[in-house]
Amino acid sequence: MRRMTARPANAHQARLLKLLRDGGPNSRAKLGDQVELSRSKLAVEVDRLLETGLVVADGLAASRGGRRSHNIRLAPHLRFLGVDIGATSVDVAVTNAELEVLGHLNHPMDVREGPVAVFEQVLSMATKLRDSGFADSFDGAGIGVPGPVRFPEGVPVAPPIMPGWDGFPVREALSQELGCPVMVDNDVNLMALGEQHAGVARSVGDFLCVKIGTGIGCGIVVGGTVHRGATGSAGDIGHIQVEPDGRLCACGNKGCLEAHFSGAALARDAEDAARAGRSEELAARLRASGRLTAADVAAAAAAGDATSLLLIRDGGHRVGQVIAGLVSFFNPSLVVIGGGVTGLGHTLLAAVRAQVYRRSLPLATGNLPIVLGELGPAAGVTGGARLISDHLFSPV
Ligand SMILES: [Zn+2]
Repeated sequence: MRRMTARPANAHQARLLKLLRDGGPNSRAKLGDQVELSRSKLAVEVDRLLETGLVVADGLAASRGGRRSHNIRLAPHLRFLGVDIGATSVDVAVTNAELEVLGHLNHPMDVREGPVAVFEQVLSMATKLRDSGFADSFDGAGIGVPGPVRFPEGVPVAPPIMPGWDGFPVREALSQELGCPVMVDNDVNLMALGEQHAGVARSVGDFLCVKIGTGIGCGIVVGGTVHRGATGSAGDIGHIQVEPDGRLCACGNKGCLEAHFSGAALARDAEDAARAGRSEELAARLRASGRLTAADVAAAAAAGDATSLLLIRDGGHRVGQVIAGLVSFFNPSLVVIGGGVTGLGHTLLAAVRAQVYRRSLPLATGNLPIVLGELGPAAGVTGGARLISDHLFSPV
């Protein structure tokens, strides 16, 4: 088994590894321009990286006059695992060192079944990816969970929709099972990292990434780095109160945003509407499958169902209200909306935009795009691979 055993010895080497990860194979000359090292110092650092096996020579680079040199690239056998544990399903993907997804599996799974059952599922999916030839072994794994995480230890803390996970040592347990280093983060932060690496937020330094799935959360990227806050719960916007004395939330409080609009709230409201005879379209779907999901509401809206459109618009207004406050506070250059309910698409986006543009000051919204995420279910797993590679490509 070839396994990544070396780590960069200093900040220059770390920077070179990240440049090769984000930009692909490159010549020494061009890398030198980007790291601002003298030719001789660069040569020393590159040679050391070649010795560790983390990078390899790769074909001849275009000549700049004089002797032609080899391109260098990250070792082609490096493999990262990205794992996105959602409330209702698990995504597992394997990437190469440049974080391109080579293989990706999805499986329905209720996170409430607890860590032991969920890990069994994750491990069997990882094994399947390995047996399909995508990897000999894994050099590291980045895991996202749908709740707040004490980041350095990789431990979920009192996650409202994950009973049985409070204090569970996810990082340690999975690292032991997978036999490689593991980092754990909130699923929303992983989505932000994924969109930043390969999606709609590429090369954007300050942005918000709002994930609307079973719950609602917000990834906050400041100066290119995820802001996790003092204890790791930054961006937990689903529990901002939008309605005094409103609906009861899974967290025990009343009137939280996600108790009024989220994948779960939307399904509940749709079922209520169907039972109350307010939508024939939703009622037919409820009769057919016994329950409704956000996807049913999206499909009914696409078929022109007025009640479904109204539910999505109302929800968009509520999220938009909260985002407007965040925009005034944070002044991002981009707001990305993603997660399971992006199937609600442009109706949702239009409602969110209307609220934000109405409520925020022109200076904050003058050039502010509010867009849907680009990567869909690949955002979280790409973000997972990015998280662990950031860790491994940092000096020890
Ligand atoms: Zn709440």
